[in-house]
Amino acid sequence: MQADDRLAAIQARIARAAKLARRDAADVTLIAVSKTHAADAIEPLLAAGHRDFGENRVQEAQTKWPALQERYPEARLHLIGQLQSNKAADAVAMADAIHAVDRLSLVTALAKAMDAQDRRPACFLQVNIGEEPQKGGCAITELPALLAAARDADLPLAGLMCLPPAGVEPAPYFGLLGKLARDHGIAGLSMGMSDDFETAVMIGATHVRIGSALFGDRPPVRTPTGFRKRA
Ligand SMILES: *Cc1c(COP(=O)(O)O)cnc(C)c1O
Repeated sequence: MQADDRLAAIQARIARAAKLARRDAADVTLIAVSKTHAADAIEPLLAAGHRDFGENRVQEAQTKWPALQERYPEARLHLIGQLQSNKAADAVAMADAIHAVDRLSLVTALAKAMDAQDRRPACFLQVNIGEEPQKGGCAITELPALLAAARDADLPLAGLMCLPPAGVEPAPYFGLLGKLARDHGIAGLSMGMSDDFETAVMIGATHVRIGSALFGDRPPVRTPTGFRKRA
């Protein structure tokens, strides 16, 4: 199947899930996660009219996107991966949305970069929803403080984001992220990936981040102990 056919098939699945939940599919943004994929894999989606794309590394985005955006200036770039504070200025310079704001030092760095550049990408606060030590995201108990700091710093707050634990039913985690958003008066929910986006849409996702179901599997990465599926 071609990338644009896969795109249409995923949009149809999103529409079906939204309808089941009595939601408007137009309230769900499909972010095509193009990390590790070259420009020639991304182009067919741009040509088909798709506009929202996700990358997890600033440096990789900087090598691929300026040329693509020259040809498709309406393309929107979502940075979805963990972000180092020393990359905050680069992130602000190129992103339309930043999905992994997860600590006070990053809030401060982003606010400073936004003021300096007079550019304000939408921000999602990432919550470590499964309380997994190896994962990014603020602890659930730290969310109120992080949120207060983000509001204080005037970050354009778009929503909450999570990556639920792998290999278990994600619905309770999506439900919990939704509850946290409601409790704190936050509108957006960035949740759901290739394997679970329909569940996420039924539970209220406003942004789903879909990579492998659109582009095919990513190449494995070499680690000291062998190969693993690429992040
Ligand atoms: C890679 C990635 C995705 C997409 O994952 P797929 O399973 O390929 O759809 C979504 N969110 C984040 C944060 C990612 O790093």
